[in-house]
Amino acid sequence: MSGFGKIGVIGAMDSETAQLISLLDGRKKETLSGLDLYTGTMRGKTVTVVKCGIGKVNAARTAQLLIDRFSPDAIINTGIAGGTDPELSVGDTVVATGLVQHDFDLTGFGYTKGAMSGFEKDRPTVFSCDERLTEALFTAAVRVSGETDESADPSGASDDSTIAKGLVATGDVFVYDTEIRRFIRDTFGAACTEMEGGAIAQVCALSGVPFAVLRVLSDTAGGEAAESFDAFEKMAADRSAAICETFISLL
Ligand code: SAH
Repeated sequence: MSGFGKIGVIGAMDSETAQLISLLDGRKKETLSGLDLYTGTMRGKTVTVVKCGIGKVNAARTAQLLIDRFSPDAIINTGIAGGTDPELSVGDTVVATGLVQHDFDLTGFGYTKGAMSGFEKDRPTVFSCDERLTEALFTAAVRVSGETDESADPSGASDDSTIAKGLVATGDVFVYDTEIRRFIRDTFGAACTEMEGGAIAQVCALSGVPFAVLRVLSDTAGGEAAESFDAFEKMAADRSAAICETFISLL
């Protein structure tokens, strides 16, 4: 795929970035505003990987810094999430079609939940992912699951996990409550919820940088979410990183 020679990859936690950093050939580290940015070659592309920390502010400032310092052709957010689509389970993959911020609330001024100032008042503001990047992420997820012939199984999975495309809902909330989970699902139709993607999407959209978001489920955002997160963080983060590496090879 042409036009994507320089890629920025953002993850929130070490579990999401360490594996990718170790794959960078000729790795160089630069520290800016307290953030360690690692640049090297991965699968023939120039890739910068950075751990942003948890939450929307950390994610936003990292995305802007990456854009200002490295002018990447695209930014990818890799990581883990809590599933909100009842059809999805731990280990399943969500490739984002777009991002909404479920905690953005101007309802006091007559906006619907998630609708931002400057956008349509009566529907949640969605920042759409780049279609070519999203397709490549989906293809990479299918490959990593071991399935090469998508037509053989439209769900794309051969190892019992599902690979879905869907809306991702971001907020500064670790969701572990069935009521909040239901609110996010019913209000936005989100496939999963996490804490960074929507901020990265907004920053990229404001700067005109193509972006995509990939999440593997560590939990299903219900009452057991924290225990599930602790048990499956590594599995889910490793899978997301593996998909990200395969994705870079497809660009
Ligand atoms: N254990 C960490 C906190 C993790 S917060 C600590 O003690 O510092 C959860 C992280 O995983 C966030 O980066 C978020 O993007 C993602 N995530 C996974 N499951 C989630 C859920 N159910 N709700 C919100 N974010 C979730």
